Amino acid sequence: MCGIVGYAGTEQAAPILLEGLEKLEYRGYDSAGIAVLSPERGLQVEKAKGRLKVLRDLTKGGGTVEGVLGIGHTRWATHGEPSDVNSHPQLSAGRRIAVVHNGIIENYVEIKEFLSSQGVRFRSETDTEVVAQLLEYYYNECGDAMQAVYRMLDRIEGAYALGILFRDLPGAFIAARKDAPLLLGYGKGYSFIASDVTAIVKHTRDVAYMEDGEVALVTAESIQVFNAMGQPVEKKHSWVDWDVSAAEKGGYAHFMFKEIMEQPEAVRKTVSPRLRNGRVCFDELGLTEEEIRAFSRLFIVACGSSYHVGMVGKYNLERLLRRPVDVMLASEFRYADPLVDEHTLVIVISQSGETLDSMAALRQAKALGARVLAIVNVVGSSIAREADWVLYTWAGPEIAVATTKAYSTQLVLLDMLGLRFAEALGSIPEEEYARIVAELQALPAKLQAVLENTEQIKYLASRYFNHNSIFFIGRNLDYALGLEGSLKLKEISYIHCEAYASGELKHGTISLIEKGTLVVALCCYAPLFDKSVSNIVEVKARGADIVALTTESLAGELGKTAENILSIPDTHVILQPSLGVLPLQIFAYYVALQRGCDIDKPRNLAKSVTVE
Ligand code: GLU
Repeated sequence: MCGIVGYAGTEQAAPILLEGLEKLEYRGYDSAGIAVLSPERGLQVEKAKGRLKVLRDLTKGGGTVEGVLGIGHTRWATHGEPSDVNSHPQLSAGRRIAVVHNGIIENYVEIKEFLSSQGVRFRSETDTEVVAQLLEYYYNECGDAMQAVYRMLDRIEGAYALGILFRDLPGAFIAARKDAPLLLGYGKGYSFIASDVTAIVKHTRDVAYMEDGEVALVTAESIQVFNAMGQPVEKKHSWVDWDVSAAEKGGYAHFMFKEIMEQPEAVRKTVSPRLRNGRVCFDELGLTEEEIRAFSRLFIVACGSSYHVGMVGKYNLERLLRRPVDVMLASEFRYADPLVDEHTLVIVISQSGETLDSMAALRQAKALGARVLAIVNVVGSSIAREADWVLYTWAGPEIAVATTKAYSTQLVLLDMLGLRFAEALGSIPEEEYARIVAELQALPAKLQAVLENTEQIKYLASRYFNHNSIFFIGRNLDYALGLEGSLKLKEISYIHCEAYASGELKHGTISLIEKGTLVVALCCYAPLFDKSVSNIVEVKARGADIVALTTESLAGELGKTAENILSIPDTHVILQPSLGVLPLQIFAYYVALQRGCDIDKPRNLAKSVTVE
């Protein structure tokens, strides 16, 4: 999820790797390391938790490490907390193979069990170590580095960009990729691999992008690429003419947009490792059926967008579990003398895992005897450490202040938790369970479909960007979704927005509707579609302009009442907000863009809110 750089050439590798890694710092990371190979000094590995400066100081700017061939890594922990031993490169037990990896090895538990049964001793908690150990296991059998790599790739599942150094393979390293970015850089007498071009643009702009399943053998003079069958592949070269700041953002103008576009991938990374044979499996959780059944009540506690995830969660979990689910703002929970006890499961949701209000709520809940399950993005963060159980969202680092992919992954994880609990409680019919699992599997492709169709959203943003006040209305899940749509818009565009449950309009807010007021009407929730349409008619009668969001199957019907219609693919009802949030994020983005706002760093806001 973070950064890889590899270099083969004639100059000292370590300073070049350190400099390349610095260029990848913007991606966020918690530790860094390098491995360099030289005929005299063999395989040297230096790595450390913390900023790159720590590694720089440790190696005296790279001067203590000798050799003209090496790989480097910035880690953003997914499996095992940030620490020196969990940092990459990960080494095989015989210290003959060093591996850097971005991504997640989904079947690492099974491989670790297998290798342990063969007497292999593991040192780290990472999923990555199995790659190094498995490579050594196969290498011991076949004595050929490339063959060992192919056998290892056959065995692992998941997402990876890999850089691999074999002590016994002088002058070359090996790269492989599947579902994680990795590119090749060509120079005169030197070669690179990198997660993105910013790391190497100083040295070369002549690059080729690796495709899934490809393996590259990289030396100073050449880069040979092979497909999954081991046949040579001719790579098409590209010339990078982006400037560095565009390259950091994957060619987009803002991190927020890049992160919006990453959502199909982020959701896939969160969902796919936890689906096995049609069941939701949380290997990491270790919650027994009895423990799940013993909770008589659930409490979701969070702030900001995570709180809105909780709002969706309340509707979905109560539907799936038929148990009471409360949702409360963390800043309120901590002073509310909440009614929780040892039969309550408190679910704390936080992207950073450092949100002070959520942390205080967690401690308060524990003090009252409740058990706490955290849904967190940053591995090893304070909330993750203090909770009884933790589920990581694996969204990757989020840089824009306004959350997009963290929200989406939290949402889908909470739905999956609901499914797991419903199974334990026997509160869900098997067909319904299977339908939701099938839709979870289809979700990344459907998210992608929404992202490929943004022209109308952009047009509507250009039409309405200069409004001063916008309302979001909806019922049930659409109301919960409206809360997030409204927050996204207000935080980055500074337009005053409100989200209302449609049925509440007539109890006050409708007095604010006048000619030209923009109302974003959310009508995805089919059971209340007719009622939502009536509410649109009511605000139209007071002169409101409508932008409506619905599902593809309801769009025709809604077209009779509203003119500006955005639609999302049909899915299971509980997953609708996962799709529905995308057009709202994109609308907010384009409105803010038109207004010339500082999208990635909105005024007065911070990414990680560590004050009360
Ligand atoms: N899953 C690996 C780990 O936690 C790689 C993380 C990354 O992509 O930086 O060590």
